[in-house]
Order: sequence, then C-alpha cells, then structure tokens
Amino acid sequence: MRVLLHSCCAPCSSACVMRLKSLGHEVTLYYSNSNIDTFEEFERRLESLRILAEAEQVDLVVDEYCHDVWLKEVAVGYESEPEKGKRCAKCYRFNLARTANYAREHGFDAFSTSLTVSPHKPTALVFAKGVEVEADLADIGKPFFLEEDFKKKDGFKVSLQRSKDLNLYRQAYCGCEFCRNRSQMAR
Ligand code: SF4
Repeated sequence: MRVLLHSCCAPCSSACVMRLKSLGHEVTLYYSNSNIDTFEEFERRLESLRILAEAEQVDLVVDEYCHDVWLKEVAVGYESEPEKGKRCAKCYRFNLARTANYAREHGFDAFSTSLTVSPHKPTALVFAKGVEVEADLADIGKPFFLEEDFKKKDGFKVSLQRSKDLNLYRQAYCGCEFCRNRSQMAR
C-alpha cells in the first residue's frame, strides 16, 4: 500500500518508516509543519529529515511553510492553552488535512502521522483528528487514515536509537512559539 506519512520530525519519523516498511508498505514522507516557529527551526528539522529520507531511500515531499496561516486558523484565541489542549487538537487537524489533501491529489492509498511516536502526544486525540479529516474525503473513498500507534512496540525507544545512529537533530520543544515560551519559562 502507498502511505503518505505526515512527518513531524526526523527522530519520530525514523521509527515510523521502519514500522511501515516492515508491514510491507511503500512510504513517502510529507513534511507539513507550518506550526513550527521559526522558519530557521523549520529548516533545521527539515535538514534532518532529508538525512533520514536518504538513509531509508524513501521519497520526501515538502509542503510550503505558512506559519501566518497556521496562526490565523489554529492559534488565535488559543494562545494560552496548555500542550495537549484545544490548540494542539486544531494543530493536528490542520497538518493532517494538508497531508490528506496531498495524498488524495497524488493517488496514495492512505495517510498517517508520526505524531503518535511521542509520549507527549495523546494518541486517541491524534486518531480522532485523523478520522475527522478522513471523513471530509469520504465522497471519494480514499485515501483512508491509517491508525498506527507508533509508540507501541517501543517505538519511542527505536526513534531514540535511530536518531543516535544517524545523528539526527532532536528539538527541545514541540513546534510553536506558545509551547516554546512555556518551556523556556519552566526552566
Ligand atoms: S504545542 Fe505542538 S501540537 Fe500543540 S499547537 Fe504547538 S506546535 Fe501544535
């Protein structure tokens, strides 16, 4: 099956690619992360993903960076939400919708996301947003949302080891300025 994987970052994606390949799927990475502040950070994570794509011999597609659109559609009014709260739910949906649209336009069978690797991301909420996005495409029957909980079978541990092996950049905050500011304040 051809699967388009929304890739939040290289470390998480490393575990997903291994899992999806082991299940016999053909994987394409889709870097769609307009939630990331700043553009330099977006580029830094992308560079690391390029290393992974090369090592795994998989295709990588890069979505445009539109942080201003993300702010307007996701964050306005939700700036002080905690991580895993309402802003994050909208953020998952925003990135998954862009992934699903690309998957539909390019004939993929399914789309999925590396978000479930992280212990900081509630899998049930990520799945709920994936299913919502899938429902928006229901008129044409595919692509469907592949509900793979990548943190199972030691997925997070695998991502740590693979990051070490490939010397992948590991970011200190999820992505947006709101969580970064909170984590800086907490230090
Ligand atoms: S904390 Fe992460 S998931 Fe939540 S809104 Fe910010 S970038 Fe998106």
